[in-house]
Amino acid sequence: MSKPEIPFPQSPVVPTMLEPEHVIQFSCHKGISCWNACCANIDISLTPYDIVRLKQHLGITSTKFLQDYTVPYEFEKDGIAGVKLRSIEDGTACRFMQPEGCGVYADRPTACRYYPVALLSMRMQDEYVDRNSYALVKEDHCKGHEVNRPITIADYRQEQGLTEYDELARGWRQLVLKKKSSGPAIGAPSLKSRQLFFMSCYDIDTFRVFVESDAFGKLFTLSPDEKTRILADDVELLQFSFRFLKQVLFGEQSIPLDEAQSAERLKKTMAKRTIEEKIAAERIARGEVGDYDDAEADGSGSCGKD
Ligand code: SF4
Ligand code: SF4
Repeated sequence: MSKPEIPFPQSPVVPTMLEPEHVIQFSCHKGISCWNACCANIDISLTPYDIVRLKQHLGITSTKFLQDYTVPYEFEKDGIAGVKLRSIEDGTACRFMQPEGCGVYADRPTACRYYPVALLSMRMQDEYVDRNSYALVKEDHCKGHEVNRPITIADYRQEQGLTEYDELARGWRQLVLKKKSSGPAIGAPSLKSRQLFFMSCYDIDTFRVFVESDAFGKLFTLSPDEKTRILADDVELLQFSFRFLKQVLFGEQSIPLDEAQSAERLKKTMAKRTIEEKIAAERIARGEVGDYDDAEADGSGSCGKD
């Protein structure tokens, strides 16, 4: 029997899965005794769309935002790169927390919008499509559960602007689910594919430079109109980055390739692989341990970046 995979647990406690029609009782408002308690001790994972909204709000590049406001982490044991909001120096509070509330409220991250609901994005092992379910997080410090305001999860999502947030991060969730579903048979991604995933999903301004580069232009044949449209808008570019990753990591072709260039590239990659395998075989014969990830990290892999 197939089992659901749940890649985004928000709590160590296994929750009851709830449907959108489920009615919760909750209200968060200024004046409540626990005001800001949830923002004083954060553990907030960011989606790529969260990063776009926050870097635009702050008027900085994604590269600067990642450096100054986040810490990287890996989803469980799968070696898939994730990004969390960094707390204040020497503390656990969010850097955007202010006495009057959230300093980036209009562009606050998905996890902040959902709280106290948790999104469980999952994919059945024998299904292609992903599906969402929800759970309720009840923490002692949060008094919002004591306020008599019944609301369905569907309405709560709408109230919090989550339809747009979830839709624009959907491609990323699908990528994570696909990687998780590929399981141990395919193994941990190489360092180079992890770096490519990180840049394309989270550092959109560096990804833009990559899409503008000659190397990209030689390999992929986007029409000038499409390229201009994609490059002019962070959100369009982000959606394109998900297409790009599905193509280079999972072989789902949606971006036209320059045939001559890709044939040449394939030839070079095969030649490199042959040399690598020969070197690895020689090392094994000498009793040394080989490491293919390191071989890819020095630029000998086969993605479209170099
Ligand atoms: S981003 Fe805003 S809502 Fe989220 S933890 Fe920080 S202060 Fe709180
Ligand atoms: S009610 Fe809950 S979500 Fe609102 S401020 Fe209090 S702890 Fe935070």
